[in-house]
Amino acid sequence: MNVLKFGGTSVGSAKNINSVISILENYSTKDTVICVVSAVGGITDKLLKAGALAQQKDTSYQAQFNLIADIHQRILADLIPSENTSKAQHLSEKLEELKSLLDGIFLINEISPKTSDKLVSFGELLSSFIIAKTMQHRGLDCQRKNSQDLIVTNSNFTKAEVIFEQTNKNIQHYFSEAKQRITILPGFIAKSDHGDITTLGRGGSDFTAAIVAAALKVKTLEIWTDVSGMYTTNPKMVKQAFPIKHLSYQEAMELSHFGAKVLYPPTVQPVLNLNIPIFIKNTLDPDAFGTKISNDAHQNGNAVKGISNINNISLLTLQGNGMVGIPGFSKRLFETLAQEKINVIFITQASSEHSICFGIDINDADQAKQAIDLTFENEITLKKIDPIIVETNLSIVALIGDKMKSHQGISGKMFSTLGKNNINIRAIAQGASEKNISAVIAEKDVKKALNTLHERFFEVKTKQLNIYITGVGNVGERLVEQIKQQRKYLKEQLKISIKVVGLSNSRTMVFNESGLSLKDWKSHLATGEKATLQGFLERAQSYNLRNSIFVDVTANEAVSKLYAAYLKHSIAVVACNKIACSSDFKNYNELKQLSRQYNAPFLFETNVGAGLPVIDTLNNLIASGDKVVSIQAVLSGSLNFVFNNFNESTKFHDVVKQAQKEGYTEPDPRIDLSGIDVARKILILARESGTEMNLSDIENVSFLTKANLNSDQVDDFYQTLIDDEAHFQNLYASATSNNCQLKYVASFNEGKAKVGLQEIPEGHPFYNLEGKDNIVMFYTKRYPEQPMIIKGAGAGADVTASGLFADIIRVGNK
Ligand code: ADP
Ligand code: ASP
Ligand code: MG
Repeated sequence: MNVLKFGGTSVGSAKNINSVISILENYSTKDTVICVVSAVGGITDKLLKAGALAQQKDTSYQAQFNLIADIHQRILADLIPSENTSKAQHLSEKLEELKSLLDGIFLINEISPKTSDKLVSFGELLSSFIIAKTMQHRGLDCQRKNSQDLIVTNSNFTKAEVIFEQTNKNIQHYFSEAKQRITILPGFIAKSDHGDITTLGRGGSDFTAAIVAAALKVKTLEIWTDVSGMYTTNPKMVKQAFPIKHLSYQEAMELSHFGAKVLYPPTVQPVLNLNIPIFIKNTLDPDAFGTKISNDAHQNGNAVKGISNINNISLLTLQGNGMVGIPGFSKRLFETLAQEKINVIFITQASSEHSICFGIDINDADQAKQAIDLTFENEITLKKIDPIIVETNLSIVALIGDKMKSHQGISGKMFSTLGKNNINIRAIAQGASEKNISAVIAEKDVKKALNTLHERFFEVKTKQLNIYITGVGNVGERLVEQIKQQRKYLKEQLKISIKVVGLSNSRTMVFNESGLSLKDWKSHLATGEKATLQGFLERAQSYNLRNSIFVDVTANEAVSKLYAAYLKHSIAVVACNKIACSSDFKNYNELKQLSRQYNAPFLFETNVGAGLPVIDTLNNLIASGDKVVSIQAVLSGSLNFVFNNFNESTKFHDVVKQAQKEGYTEPDPRIDLSGIDVARKILILARESGTEMNLSDIENVSFLTKANLNSDQVDDFYQTLIDDEAHFQNLYASATSNNCQLKYVASFNEGKAKVGLQEIPEGHPFYNLEGKDNIVMFYTKRYPEQPMIIKGAGAGADVTASGLFADIIRVGNK
């Protein structure tokens, strides 16, 4: 004899019912089959809604009823198309009964738990009717039996307790005489010892199947659902979750108790005593192995077997200095809750015993507060304890595994993983059995927590980075292309998986929480929603994804002003925009502090030397205990390009134009030529070396003429370059006559920085600096005479994009 239970989705459409029938048909060729069915998916909720509307005197309960009727009629018509009035007729009669019940509720304006159970029982009655009739119609040897005739409970409506002695007898007796190969039983519903319809609690069809399986001592119990087993965590929340092959009964109980809806918690108990294994199988993929729950010592290497969560939690805290001395304090507290029939999901007691904190369903919170405040009225009046504190919108996230107790450090890992992602933990508890460790967190953080914990405990191998890029001009475009090309390599070689979740230019923005396809990203972006900086930020905040990185590829001050907001949400910031780091020292310092406080890296390697690892090297020197003495550098790729190409046979104006055209200058070339850009860079190096400095502290002797400096617009500026050609030719002639090259040099020495054009003699490391290259020489305590030199391409879209990319990977490696 086999017992199979099919859930709501499995019987949710004619197509799925056909799959159920073919599974049953297959089983019935080998043995007799008992099949427990749920209501059609979503019907129990719809029945409850119709009941609530009727009770509130809202006539739309009729529309809700029509919807319910229509769903069933359609399924039946799809299953038995040619036929035939008698089955449709019977269905209509049942639906009429339901309609009268709803009309009654409407009339009397009331719905008791008893009536509610009667109402929802229609769900399972209708589904079992449709399935049994279809099977009979197809010539299968099948009958339907109403479980209400078998399962006896007390009168605790909506979650009745089973009276096993009577129930087992009924089941054994009935099946000892049943002749058919297949019996269909409605799940979830039962009858009280007073003859009233009762139900076993939401999700209770699983339990019905377990009761039957245990009463008949069958070999296995199979729970067929819409997923391929019990997963490492809810697969609807974490894409990377996967089915757990083997679980012990205890693990399955803990997982379901802490929210893994796939199995109704009481289901395990009846079969556990008899050692009957439970298989969880997927109706839509019957060949998948699923999960086996048994006593076998099957264990994979992982001590943590699964992660579950329960939402809608309220945390209640009772505290007060007088608590220590109050005898039987906990006893009184929990007795009060028991009297109110309030289920305590979670308890922690502070070691000081000055407070006790426990989690309950949010719907019980008001009732609990009133009852407890009453129980301790005396102590509260005497100010020995405070009135109970209630916090809401919380969730419990729990790690589960039998073997966790023999592995140290799991809770530490759990909390540091949550902490690193800025998920605040309100309370923690470890079950006495050490089969679970649970943490109470804000409900808004649940998805992030499940994903991070899953990554930490089950996918140690790959780390997912979620990226938001703003500014997809020259450099940004290359960055997206590089990500597109490198994605596979990164995943395979560096175990970093990159998802671009948001993209924006100044006009439009697009998002996809599971990662944008980068195939036609440009045309996709062009049809995106209207871009706003605030909107972009809000979206990144609301997705609340782990390892989020905001990448600023603009030169826009307004964008840089939002870094603090990103960091405060633990979103890392990677910027090639120099404005923030060269802004007022207070602002720079605050961003660095926020980065530390919220554990969100703030990286800006490309601020100096484009893709060259200048800042990273400097940081590493300092982190390893070195100290910067002075810095000498050529930091402007654009100015180096200009002075390398300018001579007696070229025009200064033309060379600058060319540099701009090739993308080596800032959008406004004056920022480069005035020396401001270089000043910003040396400022950043000075700050990163540990010096408090502002842009105004940097000596900047310009090589430009007054007319150049005073020009209003970029076009005017170019005109002044033409007008003042002689001035530039003089600079060149002087350098040549001294056997020197013109280089725009930045230096930092003894806490002072300056920038300016210099004549560099032959033999100096700067003399032969080619093209748009940069060079930086760090003189430090460790490198006092022979400086640490970093030299290479210091401008250009491709190298800058790869510098940004390197920062992104640095975030990934943190
Ligand atoms: P049925 O209607 O078949 O009884 P349920 O909706 O009650 O199905 O349970 C199956 C659902 O449980 C899955 O679709 C999934 O969303 C949810 N679920 C939550 N946690 C888990 C988990 N750890 N493993 C599998 N499913 C889970
Ligand atoms: N139909 C019931 C519910 O939705 C029982 C079940 O599906 O297990 O809760
Ligand atoms: Mg279920």
